[in-house]
Amino acid sequence: MKHNIEKFNPKNNKTVCGASWCHLHLFADNKAYPCCMNVTTPMGDYKENTLKEIWNNDTMKKFRVDTLNGIPQTGCEPCYEAEKTGQYSYRESFWDKIKNNPEILENTNEDGSLDEMHLLYWDFRFSNVCDLKCRTCDPAHSSTWGEEMSRVNPAGMNGLPILRQGTSAKILAELENDGHYDNVNEVYFAGGEPLVAKEHYILLEKLDEYKKNNIVLWYNTNFMNLYFKKVPVWKWWNKFTDIRLQVSIDGIGDRGSYIRKGFDSNKFETNLKEVRENAPHVKMAASVTISLLNLFHLFDLFDVLLNKYEIEPSLININFVFWPQYYSIQNLPNEIKEKWLVKYNNEIDKYKNEKYANINSIFEQIKTHLFQNEPNLNHLNGFKEYTKLYDSIRNESIVDVFPEYAELFDKFEKKGFPRTTI
Ligand code: SF4
Repeated sequence: MKHNIEKFNPKNNKTVCGASWCHLHLFADNKAYPCCMNVTTPMGDYKENTLKEIWNNDTMKKFRVDTLNGIPQTGCEPCYEAEKTGQYSYRESFWDKIKNNPEILENTNEDGSLDEMHLLYWDFRFSNVCDLKCRTCDPAHSSTWGEEMSRVNPAGMNGLPILRQGTSAKILAELENDGHYDNVNEVYFAGGEPLVAKEHYILLEKLDEYKKNNIVLWYNTNFMNLYFKKVPVWKWWNKFTDIRLQVSIDGIGDRGSYIRKGFDSNKFETNLKEVRENAPHVKMAASVTISLLNLFHLFDLFDVLLNKYEIEPSLININFVFWPQYYSIQNLPNEIKEKWLVKYNNEIDKYKNEKYANINSIFEQIKTHLFQNEPNLNHLNGFKEYTKLYDSIRNESIVDVFPEYAELFDKFEKKGFPRTTI
């Protein structure tokens, strides 16, 4: 059946998504998902099946047909929500990746199957190996956190501190044997932490061997380690022309390392210099996760990013914590939100200049998001419980690093809030 390409345009259809026509996301537990934003709707299990089998299984076919017919999908809410507030969604980015290959979309069979498999964009997480344990992440995405959790609460990780697919060789062989290197335009490396994962380097060497040196290589990295077996990463990077790093940073000094355990802002600064000197073509963007931990220090953080680290204002982006829900800024009591608003009103003028349009817009989004929902006491209680738990495991204290929450934690002690289970 020949479809009209305009049926796939996200402007004309609020659910259809190019992801399931040009992409698959494999997580470290072997589950395959339509993309890394939708990790609640597995399309298949890579331990049991090949990529090719998953590509046209009943789940994938239904996903394509349903989204074409305007049926919203569980797990795709982040895209639907982003579009409601005018943000550029991941779904829209997939349209931009695939619209120049209309034949891939137009030749969709009536049952949702595709006769050919064009994996234009890869996102395969070979393991959760990671050198940090960030509070706004989780043990399934970080082996060091998995190790900690398996000591403290073995049942929480099913006794598995490290998630390894054990299928790395299978993926690498399938990509090669089924000719996927011919089609690939973009590869996304994330983790775990890609720069400490051996499969990342194997894949770069294969891409070089197949002369895919001009494709886009995206990274989400904690940027703490630029060496693999004592060889600097730019030995590989200098063979590729288009490398775009999203470097995660949520705070400076103690605040940064409290949120991202193992993060060191001095090392961050040194690594920025090293990459700028040794691989100047690499584009470095800063990615800030907005949680109630760093909410009151964002102006300080942005000042450092812009003025000390000299990150381009247009290359700073944010994402709001949705999970764990107890770190969402929306949970804060209204009187704390109002205090933040005072700070916002005192500081925002410095970003009114056109040069800082992106920064101004970021703070506008934060303000809107903060007040979008009423405080959630159940989640706020989760914030208290989990903060105290991790503080005791890590020998840290939130009020030493974020004194603005001393009063809130004092209230918790005196008054208490409803118990929660998370
Ligand atoms: S709509 Fe968004 S979350 Fe759903 S598959 Fe597409 S990109 Fe992923």
